Amino acid sequence: MFPDFEFCCDAFNKYELTLDKEKYEKLKTYAEFLVEYNKNVNLTAITDPEEILYKHFIDSILLDKYVQIPEGASLIDVGTGAGFPSVPLKIYRPDLKITLLDSLNKRITFLQLLCEKIGIDAEFIHGRAEDFSKKSEYREQFDFSCARAVANLALLSELCIPFVKVGGHFISMKGPTEDISSGLGAVEILGGNVSRETNYKVENEERRIIVIKKIIQTPTKYPRNSSQIKKKSL
Ligand code: SAM
Repeated sequence: MFPDFEFCCDAFNKYELTLDKEKYEKLKTYAEFLVEYNKNVNLTAITDPEEILYKHFIDSILLDKYVQIPEGASLIDVGTGAGFPSVPLKIYRPDLKITLLDSLNKRITFLQLLCEKIGIDAEFIHGRAEDFSKKSEYREQFDFSCARAVANLALLSELCIPFVKVGGHFISMKGPTEDISSGLGAVEILGGNVSRETNYKVENEERRIIVIKKIIQTPTKYPRNSSQIKKKSL
């Protein structure tokens, strides 16, 4: 069973976050629907309700603590999977405009059903990031792009930076182990510049947020197609 309201408020407070009853109810419904749907469709390896609270919900929402996201900003979540980090973030920050992108349609279907159930607005895209960021309606249209646990920094930058407007930011949420120095060349080629790295812990697990500011337009030849991206990182 998902932890009760009091337990969740204490958990949020530990991370200097706040929770009200309405947001709690949405998170509870999310956790219950995720566990139920996960019995038939592979969405997450984490199914213990308390772990969902910390490792999925609080971890996602901490993005709001470590990155200044202006009121009403647009954000595309690349490889969102079961909605992390953008769906918990939208529950916490209803003013944000979120776009959920994943190459697996079964995950997008889950997200459409979930968002209807908990009453939140979102745009859904089933497809590969490298195909959609070439389309004029998505290229350099977002204030923020973000990705959690999708790939290494060089590859992720090619998938995520083309979506961001000049002056916007790409936020990469990672574990602590990757040496990001090998991705810095790719960041620069794609028009970005690492502006901040923050290390933090969620229940003793090390996490890292890397914020990349887009300083110039991405050259039109990027992203390359999937097979070229897979063959060799920038
Ligand atoms: N972000 C979620 C999280 O933190 O739980 C999901 C992470 S999961 C490890 C990676 C997701 O990225 C998968 O759902 C996969 O389908 C998606 N993905 C991988 N490459 C992609 C691409 N090129 N375009 C769109 N989605 C992609």
